[in-house]
Amino acid sequence: MTSDSLGGIDTSLAFSISWDFPPKASKNRGMDRGRDTVDERMECVRGKRLELLGKSQEELKAFCDGMGEPVYRAGQIYHWLYAEREFAVERWSNLPAALREKLKRETSITLPEVRQRYVSSDGSVRYLFGLPAQEEKSLKKPAAVEAVFMPSEGRQTICISTQAGCAVDCQFCLTAQLGLIRNLTAGEMVAQVLMPLKEMEERAGSGQIENGEKAPASESGRYMEEPTGLAARTNVVLMGQGEPLLNFEKVMGALRILLDAEGVGLSPKHVTLSTSGIVPGIERLGREEVRPKLAISLNASCDEQRDLLMPINKKYPLKALMEACRNYPLRNWEHLTFEYVMLGGVNDAPEDARRVVRLLGPLTRVKVNLIPWNPGELPYKESSAEAIEEFRRILVEKGVPAFVRYSRGRDVMAACGQLALKEVQGTPLRIVV
Ligand code: SF4
Repeated sequence: MTSDSLGGIDTSLAFSISWDFPPKASKNRGMDRGRDTVDERMECVRGKRLELLGKSQEELKAFCDGMGEPVYRAGQIYHWLYAEREFAVERWSNLPAALREKLKRETSITLPEVRQRYVSSDGSVRYLFGLPAQEEKSLKKPAAVEAVFMPSEGRQTICISTQAGCAVDCQFCLTAQLGLIRNLTAGEMVAQVLMPLKEMEERAGSGQIENGEKAPASESGRYMEEPTGLAARTNVVLMGQGEPLLNFEKVMGALRILLDAEGVGLSPKHVTLSTSGIVPGIERLGREEVRPKLAISLNASCDEQRDLLMPINKKYPLKALMEACRNYPLRNWEHLTFEYVMLGGVNDAPEDARRVVRLLGPLTRVKVNLIPWNPGELPYKESSAEAIEEFRRILVEKGVPAFVRYSRGRDVMAACGQLALKEVQGTPLRIVV
């Protein structure tokens, strides 16, 4: 159990026992379609404990079916995990006591360990999560990642990591110095959302949030009846450690739970995936039925500059990236966001702004977030306020909407990962809300 002044979350909920009887034959014919692929992922039926966190409804149905339980139990488990954020199986009151006992014996709910938690003067809370090694061969290493909870008027935004470390090697990014440690599982990503939300609810419940009055209804109605202390709207941004499109399957597994009305229940309008420009991943994301908004980390105005700042540009140069952006199937409410970290004397000249206009001109429905650089370990300096304003003015005058976005949580280094720097030699977060 990890607990501190903010009120802790019980992280000791991993129940350990082997699955010691064979799965029963399917009684649910409707479930049989697609079972092979589900079973491949269902370690429970092969003699290991099943990790529940991160499982889809389909996977939980296969699990219940294999236990000889009615498949509607899967919906109940799914609801407790993701909609209620209740990780103590004994409190799953609509499940029979015998099934709860069985789940406690034979499954796990493994929450990340909260290794450190820093609270900023602006209310942001920065978490350093410890993640245990996973069974899967490629996930054998334990890891540490960051997530940041940022409250603001009427909403809270949670920035999560999708990989521990990163292989992409952007020169302005401390995570790059770690290299890729390992991918995160869907459950490890979903937990980074669920744990801060649950913690803030507990704080409100214990009176630690002064204005913890009954929250208004969210779009999904989720908070209508709950005195949660949370704002009505939750945003999630995939902008922590890692390149989400290089961990595509697991990121999509997490997103399907986050965006499912029966799961965490977030609106796709409130979830943003940020990529360094992995062109095949952008194309693949565009074909997904359920997907978040897309942001492209641009940070340069020409290939020569971007090759230096983001070597991934040599593989997916601006021409290919812009073509993928042009072909990206935007929904009618959606626009593409381009993030542009302003590096003094590097990419912040008026000529850079004019080149960005030319790059983005052929695209419809775009906006640019200009992000002032946070000085730190790396050899870059801030752009002057005048340079940033001039850059923004040029974009706006040419019809490209542009906004200056300051990082949150600067005093606890939530914007550039220096907490983790002590622990794991560097993890920046580009948190812009
Ligand atoms: Fe990886 Fe993002 Fe850092 Fe680039 S900016 S190295 S993609 S974490």
